[in-house]
Amino acid sequence: SGFCKSNSTFYSKRKPISLPPYHSLDVTTFISSHHHHNNDKIAFIDASTGRRLSFGDFWRAVESVSICLSDMGIRKGHVVFLLSPNSIFFPIVCLSVMSLGAIITTANPLNTSQEISKQIFDSKTALIFTIPQLLPKLPSPESINNVPIVLMTTDHSSSDHQTLEDMMKKEPNDQTIIVKNRVTQNDAATLLFSSGTTGVSKGVISTHGNLIALVMGMTGRFRTHEKDQIYIATVPMFHTYGLAAFAISLVAKGCTVVVLPKFDLDEMLSAIHNFKVTYLPLVPPILVGLANNADLIRKKYDLRSLRYVLCGGAPLSVGVMEEFKKKFSEVTILQGYALTESNGAGASTETLEESRRHGTAGLITPSTEAKIVDTETGEALSENKTGELWLRGPSIMKGYFENGEATARTLTSDGWLKTGDLCYIDDDGFLFVVDRLKELIKYKAYQVPPAELESLLLTHPEIIDAAVIPFPDDKVGQYPMAYLVRRSGSSLSDFAVIEFVAKQVAPYKRIRRVAFVTSIPKNPSGKILRKDLIKRATSSL
Ligand code: AMP
Repeated sequence: SGFCKSNSTFYSKRKPISLPPYHSLDVTTFISSHHHHNNDKIAFIDASTGRRLSFGDFWRAVESVSICLSDMGIRKGHVVFLLSPNSIFFPIVCLSVMSLGAIITTANPLNTSQEISKQIFDSKTALIFTIPQLLPKLPSPESINNVPIVLMTTDHSSSDHQTLEDMMKKEPNDQTIIVKNRVTQNDAATLLFSSGTTGVSKGVISTHGNLIALVMGMTGRFRTHEKDQIYIATVPMFHTYGLAAFAISLVAKGCTVVVLPKFDLDEMLSAIHNFKVTYLPLVPPILVGLANNADLIRKKYDLRSLRYVLCGGAPLSVGVMEEFKKKFSEVTILQGYALTESNGAGASTETLEESRRHGTAGLITPSTEAKIVDTETGEALSENKTGELWLRGPSIMKGYFENGEATARTLTSDGWLKTGDLCYIDDDGFLFVVDRLKELIKYKAYQVPPAELESLLLTHPEIIDAAVIPFPDDKVGQYPMAYLVRRSGSSLSDFAVIEFVAKQVAPYKRIRRVAFVTSIPKNPSGKILRKDLIKRATSSL
């Protein structure tokens, strides 16, 4: 086909991107200089309050907040923690922080206080942005050196903290100085958390250059985004998918985004109806919900504006896709495949024609190379053969934060990212994701690292060994199931185990099924044979 080279590297079939040649460039400057549309156009609409920010308002806010952050001593390399549900202010905080060369770290607001504290300590957070409702989840001010907290709220009455709203009012004047140390494309911009192929959650260091490449690659992906497309943000902005789309790419594209504070099917549908949304990025469980309730939904809401659905973050079954297409025949389902570690790089379908190849995750991202590697021999395979997908290109992360070992395990010395996904690429260059090799469980596309649950289970005095695996489920994708070995004489019940875990983890990480065994199958080096357990768990389905 001329596509697969003799050394079995697959090159993207999409038009390559040309990256800006300047070494000194931050992603905020890059985006703002690329934005060539009218300042009165609406950038963000808050679906719950109706508040609108024009692009003019948006970029003025980014400048004002950058000035305030600089005044507060935030400098290149400082980590700023953004703990918030989706909001029209989320992208403002991200772009302001990154404009100074400071680094954005995010977390799921559902995480527990312990999980959040750990991230604040591990990342050496210098400043926190959050909402009043989440303040109780933060550690005591003394225990974190009185790190300043900025509240994303319009309510001034209740608090001694500074508010984002006040920061946004700051007008630059003759005396304004922004201390902006030289930021290069190789400097860190974001620190999102992912468990990667194995173990517990780790900070993924992504650079300004990675995000600039993301924007350029996405411009293609959002080619279907004629300028007047209206998006809705239901996918969380704390996750790479939502951050890449709503805080970065769509700002660069100059598109309007309707923002919902949290996912709720009815609120999403009424927002699509009210704001005539044309483009809905989502994760598979939402598509399942739409397909299953299509008739009811159509009676209640006018969804005729909707043209595109972009499904990513977890595998989409062909059955669900076909069910949805039957019910919403005028909507094109596009797919996207990427990882936190790849900053949007992976694969996507971008047109109606591409979307007709059911089951594919799409063509490889522009300027990105792919390899399919035999998991036994390490040999790079040709078309239609299944192996581990490796990716190389300008969006691939720099490495894991303060974790050389995990970095070395995941990135090869010549820059390939081992995705931990079992895939093949067909004769026409389309990627198919077959299975997940890595341990990761995805509950509603949220990451659940089994290693974290296993170590928690082992703190229970009556549990002597534990293995956690994904259990397949039509509605949520997968949920965590535990295989456990009890101490002899223990009559610990599955219910007690479920409760024990539920008290200590975020709701999406809960164990929802338990089986007791006499031993956990392991290979000679002590590695849990997860595939055997998965086979055992699902054999009766
Ligand atoms: P995250 O870092 O949370 O985005 O998780 C990335 C992982 O989600 C990938 O390595 C895949 O295992 C899975 N994933 C994401 N998108 C897709 C997709 N379109 N099809 C199948 N799996 C996907």
